[in-house]
Formats: sequence, C-alpha cells, structure tokens
Amino acid sequence: MSYIADNIKEVEAKIAAAAQRSGRKREDILLLAVSKTQTVETIQQAVACGLTSLGENKVQEIMDKYEPMGNGVHWHLIGHLQTNKVKYIIDKVDMIHSVESLKLAEEIEKRAASKGIVMDILVEVNMADEESKFGITPDNTLEFVKILAKMEHLRVRGLMTVAPFVENQEDNREYFRKMRQLQVDINAKKIDNIKMDVLSMGMTGDYEVAIEEGATIVRVGTGIFGARDYSNKEK
Ligand SMILES: *Cc1c(COP(=O)(O)O)cnc(C)c1O
Repeated sequence: MSYIADNIKEVEAKIAAAAQRSGRKREDILLLAVSKTQTVETIQQAVACGLTSLGENKVQEIMDKYEPMGNGVHWHLIGHLQTNKVKYIIDKVDMIHSVESLKLAEEIEKRAASKGIVMDILVEVNMADEESKFGITPDNTLEFVKILAKMEHLRVRGLMTVAPFVENQEDNREYFRKMRQLQVDINAKKIDNIKMDVLSMGMTGDYEVAIEEGATIVRVGTGIFGARDYSNKEK
C-alpha cells in the first residue's frame, strides 16, 4: 500500500472516531482532499482510495489539473479568489468556500448567470478575527448572508473558516463552536432562500475537534499527502 493509502486509512479512522464520540454519522461528513501543490499522479492515488472531492486554493492549479484529472472528481475552490479569475473556474468547481466580499459575490452571480447555473457557495468567516486572514467578521455575517440571499445564481450552503494555527487543537474548539452557533442563529432568522447545512471547518491539525463541533466538510491536505513542497510551484 502506498503511503497515501496508509495516511487516508489513518485519517478515516480518526474521522470515524470523532463522529462516534459526538453522536454523528460518518456519512454526514465530507473529507475534502486538499490537493494544492500535488501532482496529478499523486492526486490520482487519493482518488483511487475513494477521495473524489478535491480542494485547491489557486485558480491556476485547478485549470492545470482539470483536464488531466477528468470527470470522476469534484473540485472545490477553498482559497482567496480574485474577482477577475472567477470566469476561469465558474464551470469547473462544485463549490466556492471563500466568499468574503460583496464584489466577489456579485461577480460569481454574474458569471453563474451567464452560464445558466446556480453556484453553491460558503461565506468565509474570520472567527478568530485574525488580521492575516480573509473573511467576514462574525458580527457582519448575517447582514452579508441577507444580501447574498437575493442573488439568484448563488446558493448559500453554509459557512467556512480557517482557524488559527495551533499546537493543540483544543485551542480552536471555541471558534468551531461559535461558528456552529452562528449557523444556527442565521437559520433561525428564516431568511428567504437561506437554509445553511454546511460547515467547512477543520484542517490536518484540528479536524477531529471540528467534527466534534459539527463540521460537515473537513479540508485535509498534509494529513493525506504529507508535508507540501512549494519549491517547484512558483507560478
Ligand atoms: C492548505 C489548506 C488546507 C489544508 O491544510 P492542511 O493543514 O495541509 O490540512 C485547508 N484549507 C485551506 C483553505 C487551505 O488553504
């Protein structure tokens, strides 16, 4: 078995255990394989193990890998998206996790309309209020969602956060818990067109705690593929 298959087995076991601890079903959680910087050949090993949903944070990488990876996979854009690049991925991705400005939402709306599709999106929330991170503040999220609710070619599926880098994943539990509460509070407003059921939270360092707190998508890169090598990726 390849190291990737071994890694996936280990991640799967941890996901199953975290789900069980919190009384949740494994099938309610999507393991998104974060394939940024990985080659098509490497990614195919993960796909062969059943991981067909892939997360990328750069438009260029999705464009490069889209054809070679073929039809059997689902791409998610998880990183910061520049408005002028929406047109390149609008018909390639199943979900955009990183919607955090009105300008970006409007561009996605426009491009989705021109393709005659409805794009699933998540609102990126900066739960820990970190200056280095993108995302709407928790306090502004409800108002933002209300505006997006009026856009006919966007479907707001839920919230996404990138939690702080921590040694001990327990340190992020409060942020995950607060994001879940934010989702519950917004759903309780019964806004037309809004029923959020997705929480994209948890990465290699903290996905177990994220699952305990309600994550429905965990984004795992290093835990599956090993440490990333950025040296050959200066595009
Ligand atoms: C790279 C990345 C991940 C995966 O990070 P790992 O720590 O390698 O699991 C998850 N989410 C986003 C937005 C990322 O950019």
